[in-house]
Amino acid sequence: MPNFKNPSPPADGYRGRFAPSPTGPLHAGSLVAALGSWLDARKNQGKWLLRIEDLDTPRCVSGADQEILRQLLACGLTWDEEPTWQSQHQERYKKALERLNELQIVYHCTCSRLSIANALEARGVMTPRNQEMVYPGTCRPHQIGTYDEGEIASTEVAWRLALPPGLTIDFDDLALGKQTQDLIQEVGDFVLRRRDSIFTYQLAVVVDDAEQEITHIVRGADLLNNTARQIYLQRALGYVTPSYLHLPLVLDEYGEKLSKQTLASAIHTENTQQTLQELRKAAKHLGLKDLPDRKETSIAEWLLAATQAWNRKITSS
Ligand code: GLU
Ligand code: ZN
Repeated sequence: MPNFKNPSPPADGYRGRFAPSPTGPLHAGSLVAALGSWLDARKNQGKWLLRIEDLDTPRCVSGADQEILRQLLACGLTWDEEPTWQSQHQERYKKALERLNELQIVYHCTCSRLSIANALEARGVMTPRNQEMVYPGTCRPHQIGTYDEGEIASTEVAWRLALPPGLTIDFDDLALGKQTQDLIQEVGDFVLRRRDSIFTYQLAVVVDDAEQEITHIVRGADLLNNTARQIYLQRALGYVTPSYLHLPLVLDEYGEKLSKQTLASAIHTENTQQTLQELRKAAKHLGLKDLPDRKETSIAEWLLAATQAWNRKITSS
């Protein structure tokens, strides 16, 4: 993995975060994201916040949030402010949606996955497996007005963001370099609130990163593809765009991304030796070198050395 670029230090203090979804305990892949974001915050003498992204209730596993907190503590990855749960901030997301409604850039959609697939097929568009369908704009009105209170409260419809024509987003990823995405061609008008009234990850993550004044987002490269959408939403809502650093993904023996769906197993933190073993694997994945490997190394000592190694990695580029 190439070295990362050295971002200019933020004027008003570094604020990073780790934002796991409580769909299961931490696994090797999520530990890499936790460790990478923690080290970057420590290296910058910044704050590291923990936010549990528990909006997609059908996918949440009861007790997984507490298990994640316990695993992070076992790894010595401590947070600097009270952890937050997205499920307790519904009002924020509602306000943001109302703001976009005032701007007349959101609209109701009643399409099902099947009807979208059919509409695409009718246009001769084939969506490769594992890829999201590009919304063909079926429900988009010619002229978008402002929906009134009653229409906002109405359920059974999804809310989509209307993208302006020719919208391409460019950004500089601190690990991966220049990125560009043609949102119209590659994504289409995306959903902000689902038909089951659940606010989507895209909306919630943008609102919370702004609300918590996050300056640096360090997360797995599996989320890279969402970044352009998030930057566009930040602009629409008048938020500052943080800097982004996407970490290399941990793949399983079949070359697939580790996830709960692929039954990635929980990291072992039953004792110090096991925990250090997990941390060492994550650090190796991050390309950190010359870390203490003595048996008697404590976790605190190891994390200090890892922070120095992260610092060398960033500054030597
Ligand atoms: N909750 C998201 C996940 O676990 C990550 C959000 C983020 O870091 O932007 O995949
Ligand atoms: Zn629709």
